[in-house]
Amino acid sequence: MIDQALLFDPFDGDMGGEFRVLSDKMVRAAKMHCCVHCHQPIQIGERHRAMGSVLDGDFMQHRWCAECCKAMIVDVEHGDWEAFEDRCWTNKDRSDLERLREVTP
Ligand SMILES: [Zn+2]
Repeated sequence: MIDQALLFDPFDGDMGGEFRVLSDKMVRAAKMHCCVHCHQPIQIGERHRAMGSVLDGDFMQHRWCAECCKAMIVDVEHGDWEAFEDRCWTNKDRSDLERLREVTP
């Protein structure tokens, strides 16, 4: 059940400031979006998680693609946080950098 992804706290309480979630739900994409976690496109019609929040008075919108939602569920059901963390685009950038370093003499 993909809705279980909602049980996962993607920010792990580390937003800082005055953070308030206004809405947090699974929605179907009416247009293309970009996943905040893996930076992959969210396709039209894709069921994904959308969260609207306010941080220090500024409205923010976060979206997570279906694949990242699945990784969230792995964490919720099995306590395996690496499944989600491994999808983070900053982690991917790091491994790309390491690969570059390997091929550069
Ligand atoms: Zn994603």
